[in-house]
Parts: sequence; structure tokens; C-alpha cells
Amino acid sequence: MSKKQKYIVTSALTYANGDTHLGHIAGSILPGDIFARYLRLKGEDVIYICGSDEYGTAIEMAAIKENLTPKEVIDKYHTANKKAYEDLLMSFDIYSRASNEIHKETAREFFLNLYNKNIFYPVTENQLFSITLDKFLADRFVEGTCPICGYEEARGDQCENCGNSLNPLELINPKAKPTGDTPIVKQTTNLYFPLSQFKDKLQYWIDGKNNWKQNVLNYCKGLYKTGLIDRSITRDLKWGIPVPVEEYKDKVIYVWIEAPVGYISATKDLFIQKGSPDKWEDYWKDKNTKLVHFLGKDNIIFHAVIFPAMLMANEGFVLPDNIPANEFLNINGGKFSKSKGVGWTVNEVLKIFDPDVIRYAIASSLPENKDSEFSFDDFTIKNNSELSDILGNYINRVLVFAKTKFDNKIPDRIEGEESLFLDTVKLYKDRLSNLFDNYKFREAVVQAMNIARDANKYFNDSEPWKLYKTDKIKCGHIINDCLQVCYSLAIALSPFIPNASEKIINMLNTNRDNFKWDRIGEINLEAGATLNDNIILFPKLESVSESNSETGDDKSKSEENILNVLDINDFKKIELRVGKIISAEKIEKSKKLLRLKVKIGDKTRQIVSGISEYYSPEELINKKIVVVNNLKPSKLMGNLSEGMLLAAKFENKLKIITVDGDIEDGSEVN
Ligand SMILES: [Zn+2]
Repeated sequence: MSKKQKYIVTSALTYANGDTHLGHIAGSILPGDIFARYLRLKGEDVIYICGSDEYGTAIEMAAIKENLTPKEVIDKYHTANKKAYEDLLMSFDIYSRASNEIHKETAREFFLNLYNKNIFYPVTENQLFSITLDKFLADRFVEGTCPICGYEEARGDQCENCGNSLNPLELINPKAKPTGDTPIVKQTTNLYFPLSQFKDKLQYWIDGKNNWKQNVLNYCKGLYKTGLIDRSITRDLKWGIPVPVEEYKDKVIYVWIEAPVGYISATKDLFIQKGSPDKWEDYWKDKNTKLVHFLGKDNIIFHAVIFPAMLMANEGFVLPDNIPANEFLNINGGKFSKSKGVGWTVNEVLKIFDPDVIRYAIASSLPENKDSEFSFDDFTIKNNSELSDILGNYINRVLVFAKTKFDNKIPDRIEGEESLFLDTVKLYKDRLSNLFDNYKFREAVVQAMNIARDANKYFNDSEPWKLYKTDKIKCGHIINDCLQVCYSLAIALSPFIPNASEKIINMLNTNRDNFKWDRIGEINLEAGATLNDNIILFPKLESVSESNSETGDDKSKSEENILNVLDINDFKKIELRVGKIISAEKIEKSKKLLRLKVKIGDKTRQIVSGISEYYSPEELINKKIVVVNNLKPSKLMGNLSEGMLLAAKFENKLKIITVDGDIEDGSEVN
């Protein structure tokens, strides 16, 4: 019997300074959950760890902004984010938090261990100090222009634009936050971690990681080239874990060392709750454990460089086996950013869509190799065209067929008769395993859905409705096959859509004894068993643009807030009319503009339009077009324009909107 492989899977700790958003889901949370679910199906020994990161200046900033204490901020967002992740079906073994006593203790111990080994060294240095705030301006308490890329809102610790980590003193034109005063420079003594001394060790370690993603390797190698900088690991802050050394007791342990230790303390927290407090060591101190960190690219430096160096220095800990960092998920070309309030929170989206739909749509757009674009319509499109039309349709037609033709029972197989289709499903299993093992979940979700695509084809090509009349036994065999595939689909798709998977199992009225990765493509259902009633797995959704925002219910309301959609009453303010072009002429000295006289009922209006490159004046005469009749008049190159005509544009093509057939000019358009 092969021994189970031990895994620690982590998703990046979520800062408890705001509501978690889809950027987090795509960056680290969903990929971690998909992978953990896959490993559990394979029967591996996996613990899946996540939690709230609760120290650092980001929390203090949020507290100032919301007029709360830092403790109130972390309590609020830890609770909210934990709930949001549960609602989105994240299967953490624990969602811990940094303010837990066990974490403080672990961080202190980790720090002291390094301190006692004389790893740290003190540096007396200049720091920015705000007289108004009476404190040193660490990290996010100061903003200024990035010396590397020129971005004007770079934070003291990192530039969000170019991703480089910074020292507050490097900022050009620094300003204290939130007061905006210009800080002075003052001396303080901090302890430093000699990261530069770990360069060779880190490089050697990473050189062996041939299976790592190219973006992560490139990032690390780039860092080694520019050199690793020693890092200060104490800070003149109040909100944090006090340094457990008398001389520095007024300072806190910096989050770069404190936060990633959170993965270890969360594991301790898990096993304390399970009543075996020492068992965390079986994972973290066993060299054969595979530690896999899921995170967004802005976190690579912490997980691939700083934390491993700390673990090396502390000795005895397992190092990451892989760090499959994702790029960013963009919405309308902009990066999701909690600090900038860009993007949708998980709770906003959960008000509108089923968690499975959200998971599936995001999984289909995971920014695994490059930034990926995401649009709100993707939820509806994925629901309707894949989850409903392909998967839901397949499950439904098979169950309905069994219900009507086979008395709602699983029909018998023909003894000794092979199933070519189940063999195909087994091939899918191998393909999927390979994709999961290589962290290619975006392709995996496509391949998993392809099983349902092929299954629909198998059902169609087998024509069971015809076969039923000529060879009922053969027909039963085919339907048995199709039901077995329903079970396989429930397994293969469960990392992505766990609720729907559960519903399929319930419809099949079976237990989960065979609910294992290896059972994909196998015969898992017993003939003769009665099926449960079928339900519609994924009801069709109205597209966002079709949905009626007048209903005022919760869902359409938040959709409106999120999308900035137009209320029907706003749309009604635009008066559209049919107009007939009665004259058209070029405007002198203008390449683009034509001056049109348009008859709209009993009025004639002059409209100046930039369509000269696409239409000659002659071909426009007598055309019936659609105009905006109540536009505020304006002047274009000295010519009055009293309206606007509608036209469609695609790349270098432009076509004006005309009416289909003849209708009186002046007719209303709506
Ligand atoms: Zn920058």
C-alpha cells in the first residue's frame, strides 16, 4: 500500500482591513481550494490553511478611516471574510487569525529563536517621523512618488504600481498619512535580518525547482540579480506583537516575519482544536511534507524569498515545494485592489449569483500565466452556456429518460459488454490529474466540462429514444453508462462546483463510498437502484443587460450599484426619432465632418456628423436614420449641430443605423 503524501496547502492570508474581493478569490483562495479538494479526492493527507493577517499599518490605516480601534477593525473583517469564504464554499481546515494567543506565542518564539542564534543585527538609522502624529512613519503611514517607476501614490513599504518593495526614505516628496504633513528624518535603532547572506542558499534551492511556474522563477531570478537587501524586522509601531527582547520592547515584530509565521500558528490552532496540539510538527517538521503556497504575484517576495530564508535560518522546517503564484484578474483593464476600492467584493457577487457559478466562472478565468480579463457578464455567460446548457442539460436528460422509460431505476448493464465511453472518461481522468498536478486549473475546468460535452454527444449519437423501441436491453445498457458518467462528472467537477456535485449525488440517490478520484470512469452505481427526483442544477439567468432594474429587489439593486447600469427611467430621457436626410455636404477644411439637414416630422434639424470618411454626401440623401432628438445643441467647426445620428463602429468600419423598411420620419424609437 502506498503511503499517503502529506500536504500543507495554504492560500494567502487575507488582510483583515476590508471586505475580501474577487481579486483574492482568483489570486490565491480559489486555486488553493480547488487543489485541496483534488488532493482529498485522491486520498492524500492534506491540511488546508488560511486565516486573517491582522497586524501591520494597513490595519491602523483602516481604523483611522473607519473611526474604529484596530481591534474593532480586525474583529469586523475577520468575521466578515471568514463568512464570505464559507459562503463561497471554501474548504479550509482552519481559517485562523493573527490576534490569537497561539499566533502571538508562535511569532515570539520564532523571533526569539533567530535572535538567540545571533542572526539579527542592530542598525541605527534615519526614519521618517511625523511631528503631527508623534510617531515614526513606517510603511503605509507614508506615501510619495516611487523612485523606480514614478508612480505618485507609492506606499512606504511597496509600490503597488511596479510591485517593488521600498524603504520609506526612498520616496520622493513623502507625505504622512492621513495628515498629509511632510515628515522629518529622525534616528531609531532596529533589528535587521541578513537576507543578503541567504542569497546562495535560496538560489541553490530554487535552481532545483524545475516544475515551478515561469513567472515565479523569473521574479526570483530577477531579485537575485539585483541583489537581496537586508530587511529591518522590527518597527516603531503600536499595533503589532511586541518584540520579546527587553531592549526593543517598545517596538513590534515586523509583519514580514510575523505574518507568514501565521501559517504555522494556524496549523497549531487546528491541531489544538482537534485535541492533539503537537501534531503540527508532523507536517511542518517533516521534510517529506509538500508545502504549497497559493498567492498573487504581489506576494511572491514574501513566500519565495523572505519566508523561506527565515525558515532556513530557523532550521528544521519544511520549505515550500511549490509556489504557484497567479497574476492579476483585471476588470475593465484595472487591477482589483482592496486599498483602492476597485472590484467587487465576494459578498456583493454572492447576492446575485450561486457560489458554484462564481467559482466556475472565476476558475475559467484564472490568471495563471498572465493577467486575465474578467467581466460581470462572464457569470451569466458561463452559467447559461456551460453549466446549464452542457452539464445541467446532460444530467437532466439522462435522469428524465431513466425516469420515464425505466421506472426511475438504474437499468441493467449487458454482462460482458464493454463501454467505450467510460474508457474515454478514464482518459479524461488521466488528463485532468496531469493538469491538477501541474496547477493548471483553468485548463482543468475546460477538460472537466468536456466530459459533459462528450457525454451529450454520446447520448445523442446513441439515440436511446430510438433504441428503446427496437432493443430495450441495449438501451438500458446505454442509460446505465450515462448514469455512471453522471457520477464521474460529480467527482471530476467537485473541486470547482462542490454544491452541484453534491446535488448530482443526491439525484443519483447513492452514497459517497465511491466518491474518489480513482473512481472517475468506473462503474460506481448499482443497477436496479431507484433514482431521486431530478432538479434543475443551474437555472438559466437573464443577462445583466436584460434584467429589470425597476423591480428594486436586493439582487437587481446591488447589480446596479456594482455595474453602474442605466435605470430605465434614465434611458427614457433620451428621445430617439426617425429622421430623413434631405441634404448632405462636406464641411470645408474638415476631413471628417458632414453637415446634414434631417427632416424629423414637421421639423428640420441641422446635424454635424463625423462620418465623412465612411459615406459620401450623395449616398446619404433620403436615408432614414435614427437620431437623438433632444441633445443639447453644440457647435462643430463653427457649424451648429442640433442632434446626433446613431452609427455602429467596428475597427475601421462604420455603418449608420437605419430603419428596417419604410416608416414616417418623426416616428419615435424605443
Ligand atoms: Zn513603482
